[in-house]
Amino acid sequence: MHLPYMELHEAATLQEAVTAKRRYAPDARLLAGGTDLLVDLKAGRVTAGHLVSVNRIDALRGVSETDGGLRIGALTTITQLGRSPIVRERFSPILDATGKMAAPQIRNVATVGGNIACAVPCADLPPILTAMHASVALWSPKGERSVPLEAFFVDARQTVLRDDEVLTRVLMPKPRPGFGAAYARFALRNGNAIAVAAVAAGLTLGRDNTVRNARIVLGAVAPIPKMVEAARTVLVGRRPEEEAFRAAALLAVEAAEPISDVRGSADFRREVVGVMTRRALATACRRARENAA
Ligand SMILES: Cc1cc2nc3c(=O)[nH]c(=O)nc-3n(C[C@H](O)[C@H](O)[C@H](O)COP(=O)(O)OP(=O)(O)OC[C@H]3O[C@@H](n4cnc5c(N)ncnc54)[C@H](O)[C@@H]3O)c2cc1C
Repeated sequence: MHLPYMELHEAATLQEAVTAKRRYAPDARLLAGGTDLLVDLKAGRVTAGHLVSVNRIDALRGVSETDGGLRIGALTTITQLGRSPIVRERFSPILDATGKMAAPQIRNVATVGGNIACAVPCADLPPILTAMHASVALWSPKGERSVPLEAFFVDARQTVLRDDEVLTRVLMPKPRPGFGAAYARFALRNGNAIAVAAVAAGLTLGRDNTVRNARIVLGAVAPIPKMVEAARTVLVGRRPEEEAFRAAALLAVEAAEPISDVRGSADFRREVVGVMTRRALATACRRARENAA
């Protein structure tokens, strides 16, 4: 399989990117690291005669702190995200995902924006970012809008991103005292293997050691990162103990919509969801206690 003939356009600004994409629509695609798009083009899953690279747009770079929260530029690579001192010190649950994705060579070029915008069901960042209440900023010549990540995905490889929009950054609020999050992922190998099933958990504990808020988000077992609303209901108001985690895990298993493929049957994936949910909740709980007021 070879890449088909394409023209590459290098945009220096967001406006240039959108203008170029419009000029060649519907035959143009935005290009970031290319680790998802070029594979799809080679395999013939998508077609494009024009690639509009956003790699020269400085506004899409950098990881920084904003009012105690986190701002991740869309062009931040997975390696840069994992090495960011701010992430390591204050948003470390993200490292559960960055450390396990792909392999170093891919992580060096794969971007955060691409991992979200590709909307592939097994993408690793969306579940943990959603569990940590992240949103994405979408820029168009008409203005910018902010979309909570749980409202961004529509279906497998489909998002609310419009043709004239670029995902510019991810924004995450400062973790409140008593908040902890974790991402548990199962793959068939340690390196270069996409997730068979994954679960992200975000827990807020009150001073009375009961759960105040909870988010369970499934990865790789539904067309989109799936928030298990019922699991929140069963956890809130209870002590964060094994019995409550088991109840939440059962609901997560029920909510999963896995497919069977070469990596595992749907039944196997459901089993894994139960185990990963309990693991993610136990780790999130430990971190929430460490982060208590
Ligand atoms: C060998 C291999 C292993 C992999 N393993 C994993 C893994 O373990 N976990 C995982 O999650 N992923 C994995 N991937 C998938 C891929 O590396 C990631 O999803 C990566 O983060 C995609 O980012 P990118 O910059 O390469 O995106 P690109 O391929 O450049 O783009 C992907 C899509 O997003 C769109 N896009 C990119 N940036 C923007 C933007 N700023 N605004 C709007 N649209 C945009 C593009 O138009 C395209 O449709 C793997 C890929 C390979 C080749």
